[in-house]
Amino acid sequence: MPFFSTRGESVVTASQAILRGIAPDGGLYVPAMFHNVRPERLTSLTEMNYEQRAVAVLKRFLEDFSVREIEDAVHAAYSPERFTAPEIAPMKQMDGATWSLELFHGPTLAFKDMALQLLPHLLRLSAEKNGENREICILVATSGDTGKAALEGFRDVPGTSCTVFYPLDGVSDVQRLQMVTTGGSNTHVIAVKGNFDDAQTGVKELFTSEEFRNQMAEKGRVLSSANSINLGRLVPQVVYYFSAYAELLKNHAIAAGDPVNFCVPTGNFGNILAGYYARCMGLPVNKLICASNRNNVLTDFFNTGIYSTHRTFFKTISPSMDILVSSNLERLLYEAADRDGGLIRTWMNLLKESGSYSVGEQRRDWLLDTFWGDCADNKDTLGEIKARWEQDHYLMDPHTAVAGHVLRQYRKMTGDDTPSVIVATASPYKFAADVLNALTGDNAGGDPFIASEKIQELTGVPMPEQVLKLRDLPIRHTAECFKDRMGQAVLDVMA
Ligand SMILES: *Cc1c(COP(=O)(O)O)cnc(C)c1O
Repeated sequence: MPFFSTRGESVVTASQAILRGIAPDGGLYVPAMFHNVRPERLTSLTEMNYEQRAVAVLKRFLEDFSVREIEDAVHAAYSPERFTAPEIAPMKQMDGATWSLELFHGPTLAFKDMALQLLPHLLRLSAEKNGENREICILVATSGDTGKAALEGFRDVPGTSCTVFYPLDGVSDVQRLQMVTTGGSNTHVIAVKGNFDDAQTGVKELFTSEEFRNQMAEKGRVLSSANSINLGRLVPQVVYYFSAYAELLKNHAIAAGDPVNFCVPTGNFGNILAGYYARCMGLPVNKLICASNRNNVLTDFFNTGIYSTHRTFFKTISPSMDILVSSNLERLLYEAADRDGGLIRTWMNLLKESGSYSVGEQRRDWLLDTFWGDCADNKDTLGEIKARWEQDHYLMDPHTAVAGHVLRQYRKMTGDDTPSVIVATASPYKFAADVLNALTGDNAGGDPFIASEKIQELTGVPMPEQVLKLRDLPIRHTAECFKDRMGQAVLDVMA
């Protein structure tokens, strides 16, 4: 099956799309069509474990990969050394009609592991298929979570290396510790003397610098990116929507063909878009509920059909959703525009030049057949953590709690009582100080380790060993650089 660019005619294979990341015209790669999964195939998923479900879904997208290659990649990615839950993505019932799909049992305690554990293997295979035999060097600028997930994903994957830049004073203690203690012979972490924008701008410049590319090529290396618009990050996420449905079927919570809702805490629109792709393949999804924090640009978009970045940027207690330009939305717009690349180009140019575009009322109504957008501020979020704990004894992190609050609002406003799945994107222990604050009104002075101990004492929810270990792991990465010396820093750490 070929893949198209959202902005034009470019046609590539799955492996080429993964290798390139972004299309030459600036668009994102989308599948030419969606393979329909027949209802009896859905039922057969109930008999499978997560790995087998992953193979069943992925082979419908990755047609230039052999089933054997997909099996091996999936097996390496979702191994018990890396995921502490044997189900990989367990479902927990919260109340009579609500389940939590837990995507945080991987090495970095957040849902990005679901894709970033698999991407390195897909990337290595994609390189092989396209005659690329140089070492693939991943460069990442991170404001916290993505960097660690990428490091863990690429750690010791042959033929690859991963270098992460983080702003020296711009990440939390836990995030910094998670990164600088990373093991592996092919991982590098460099602190940039500057803020996140400096790090991100620096990485972008390295990608476009002829000189730097040549310096890397001389050493037999080629640059690549692992950010969330890469097709290799999107397709692994489709799997867990099918898996969640199969779990509900297996536990007789629903009957075959029954619709369910998914409520997704959203930032860059990658997670929820994977849910949309699952629906396009025939998964019986009623509504995809798009939950935003105070940076509610998507809520306004679904309500008005206008996407506008003319707004204040807020720092919230769900930082991985603090985003004003949701890049993966472009893939949904492509479907809303009847796959008219010219229209996407027009909208994206408007966004770049004037900060906003409108899709019109008709397309907005079409989107609302499937989507619902709403938001939660910090107060709503803290209230939801406390309420869920007190009512259902379920402990949520602040990102998941945004979705919890929005699902309540959705039910109140629509009366829809379809069984619903909240997509849980991070462990509460990854944001321990805020979670403790929600439960008790005290945040342990912001100390994540003390807060974690107090949460465990209070709730009995076991602290993940990743948090426990973090305190004692040796620091392995100490490199620092000025923001205009990032290229040299990469060459130095790799020497
Ligand atoms: C990245 C992230 C999100 C947002 O996911 P998108 O795919 O960007 O919409 C939500 N929660 C957590 C914990 C994340 O790390």
